[in-house]
Amino acid sequence: MKMTVYVRNVPIGGDFPVTVQSMTNTMTVDTVSTIAQVNGLHAAGAAMVRVSVPDFDSVKTIKELAKGNVPIIADIHFDYKLALAAINSGVDKIRINPSNLSKQGISEVVKACRDRNIPIRVGVNKGSVKNNDFSAANMAALAIESASLIEEEGYNNIVLAVKSSDIRTTVEAYRILDKLCDYPLHIGLTEAGTKQSGIIKSSVAIGSLLLDGIGNTVRVSLAADPIEEVYAAKTILRAAGLDKNFVEIIACPTCARTCIAVEELATRLEERVKNVTVPMKIAVMGCIVNGIGESKGARLGVAGGKSVSSVFLDGKVIKTVKNELIIDEIMRITEELLK
Ligand code: SF4
Repeated sequence: MKMTVYVRNVPIGGDFPVTVQSMTNTMTVDTVSTIAQVNGLHAAGAAMVRVSVPDFDSVKTIKELAKGNVPIIADIHFDYKLALAAINSGVDKIRINPSNLSKQGISEVVKACRDRNIPIRVGVNKGSVKNNDFSAANMAALAIESASLIEEEGYNNIVLAVKSSDIRTTVEAYRILDKLCDYPLHIGLTEAGTKQSGIIKSSVAIGSLLLDGIGNTVRVSLAADPIEEVYAAKTILRAAGLDKNFVEIIACPTCARTCIAVEELATRLEERVKNVTVPMKIAVMGCIVNGIGESKGARLGVAGGKSVSSVFLDGKVIKTVKNELIIDEIMRITEELLK
């Protein structure tokens, strides 16, 4: 089992649930916008939020964020003094890429983290590789080597990541790394792309790892509003069966037998329940072919019929409703169930 580290009060590792995290894309120096985005990401389901600290002017925002109720990770590159400033400002975790910090810089950062007992996430990626060996094995070895630099300072409050933009390399690297260490793993595909393709690529990579039991915290990296990262990460965890506290909408793909507006109803339901955290299943089925079976297995189900559709509650038909009224009726019953 992996070690457990704490980002403020949020555990990563051990037996604890896999956490979702995201990263702001505001200018960190813009304190108001950055705080608003951090709070929005947290409200959407991010357990912690990473913030770039590209310059010393940005540290004032870190100081303000540290007073809030969202655990904050400072993302540092090139200048270890920025890490020291962020640590002194009360940040909850530091992310460094050891390839762009000097050995002395790393040593200073580790000492400062040790003084406050905050975790260090070592993120190895393609840019970390110096010898043109971009193999999974080499990436995993680099992560272990980087962790040993921190261990040499007598510290092991560490999270590791080995992200690549290539799915197979990423999955392989994490599989190797998982066997080599007890440190909790931050998993994700880096530079996954824009919303649609990025979510699919991330789902393949992150989903493969999660189904193998690998990964303790997740970030989906998208060239999109970061709130989409949070929704995508939550959906991946749910699809992998690691989060059951949500309303699952089952909808048939529709075909020539479809009697009701399946897509419209399913879309409206999904929008309505996207922030609901109670375990429930709602089935929206266009006809009785598979509609009866799926509806019987759900809390609420609808199976379309020629002019009227059957509404199921806990496996039993409770009424039939004219097809033109079925969407409003299912939305109404859903509201009742969510009360
Ligand atoms: S449930 Fe009925 S309408 Fe939906 S895809 Fe299957 S056969 Fe077609």
